[in-house]
Parts: sequence; structure tokens; C-alpha cells
Amino acid sequence: MRLRTLGVAGSAPRPDSPASTYLVQVPADVVAAGVASGVVPPDVEVRDWDVVVDLGNGGLGYVQRHVAPHDLDAVVLTHLHPDHCADLSGLFVHLKYHPERGAMRSGVLPHLPVYGPADVAERAGQMYGLHPGETMDGIFDFRTLADAVTLRVGPLEITPRQVFHPVEAYGLRITGPSSLRRGERVVLTYTGDTDYCESVVEVSRGADLLLAEAAFVQGRDDVVEPGIHLTGGRAGRVAAEAGAARMVLTHLPSWTDPEVALAEARAEYDGPVELALPDGVQEV
Ligand SMILES: [Zn+2]
Ligand SMILES: [Zn+2]
Repeated sequence: MRLRTLGVAGSAPRPDSPASTYLVQVPADVVAAGVASGVVPPDVEVRDWDVVVDLGNGGLGYVQRHVAPHDLDAVVLTHLHPDHCADLSGLFVHLKYHPERGAMRSGVLPHLPVYGPADVAERAGQMYGLHPGETMDGIFDFRTLADAVTLRVGPLEITPRQVFHPVEAYGLRITGPSSLRRGERVVLTYTGDTDYCESVVEVSRGADLLLAEAAFVQGRDDVVEPGIHLTGGRAGRVAAEAGAARMVLTHLPSWTDPEVALAEARAEYDGPVELALPDGVQEV
């Protein structure tokens, strides 16, 4: 599978990046190799699969560099802070009002699955400003995440684990066919937003690639209460304890020096660490 780190800015967009937005893609040839080797169930359609993971401020623009919104297979929101879900409103408008493919004129409802915390449907409607009696149903099919309950999107299995953040929030363990080693199964994990906790280590266990937030800086942010964010150092500790093969740091706000986050992570973790780049790509 392929991870596109579309938006890598933490808490708000940066001058060079949208807020948290990722695209997990499985190209058709990778699906076919997975079906042939048995790591993808035989009933999965052999075609390109595209799943958006978090859709923060500005992220929908970068999504369109790679896939038409009507062709998305699912959206998974780790939590409902705006820097992870704000562009859901824009996606709704696109799917409903696009002059050729929009549901209003085509009469075809996309039923795009949108997974999120318990109140995802209500919050999405409030954010958009639905009128009384208006609904997003049919444009979006809202589904709720639950701790350790695996969902399937085509060739991908996605297991959420509840993590340590001020609102209901999940880390994700995404299993699917490798684009680097054809016919093999690989694991991509994403911390979402979280402070250090047992479940973020568990969800990251043995990851081929760990995408870890590192919003805070040791010392500077020690005055903030626990239960919000990882530092580069705490992300490194998660990677080391989980035995992750490599790590990519993300969710750096505009006021954090990336070199500090990298240095903190490397002090705790011996494996390869790099920074997520806006509209960057990681083959897994
Ligand atoms: Zn965030
Ligand atoms: Zn958050």
C-alpha cells in the first residue's frame, strides 16, 4: 500500500501544508498480487482503492491532486478536532453539488462511508450548518469506530484503538498488501493525536511504517497538562517499544522546529526516522 502524507501540519495549517490529511492507496496491480498470494480475500475487486485518513483544513485540495472525491472508497476520522475533520464540509458540497457528478443533478447518491467517533454524524451536520430536516445521509454513510473493532475497506483491514487525547480519539492499525514486497501483507500504523499510552504502543506493534504525531517539544511544552500530544521523544519511545521498522513524524505545528523533533525521536529510537512532507509519499 501507499501512504500519501497530504497534510502534515499540526493543530492548524502551516504556510507550507494543510492540516492532518492522509491518503492510503492500494493500486490495482498491488491488489491483484495480494489476491494471487492470498493476503487479500478473493472477493475484493481488483481496482485502485483510495481511503482518506483524517481530512483537516485545506486537505481536500491536496486529495484532488491524486483522486477525484467521487472515487474515494472511505473516509476515516481519528477524532473530531477541526485540524482532522474540517474539510468534511467541503467534501459534502463537492459530492452533492458538483455540476456533472454531484448527487443533486445526477440523482446518484455516493453513500461514501465516513468512519469516526460516536458523534461524527451530528458534529459533521453542525459544522456544515444543516437546515432543519436536512441530512447528509446518502451523501455520507456515517459509521462509528469502536476500540479494537476491525473494519474492512476493500483490501485494507483497519483496527482503531482508543488513545489518550482530550476527546474520543483513535490510533489506527492498517493492514494490507505491500507495494514494496509484492504478495506480502504489511502493517501501517498511525497514532492519530495522543499522548504516550499503552494502547498507542499496542496499535503500533511491529509496524512496517509508523506514522507518529510529534506536536510537542520536551521542556517547552511540559507546562501543558498530560493527555494531549506526543513529543518527538515520546514518539521515539512508542516506536522503540512497539518494535516499528521505521517511523515518519507528522503533525508538527508552524512553531515547532522539525530538527528538534527529529533529534528527540532519534535519541529514543534506533530505527530510521524522517519527517512527513506535505504531499509526500511513502511506499509500504
Ligand atoms: Zn491535531
Ligand atoms: Zn486533536
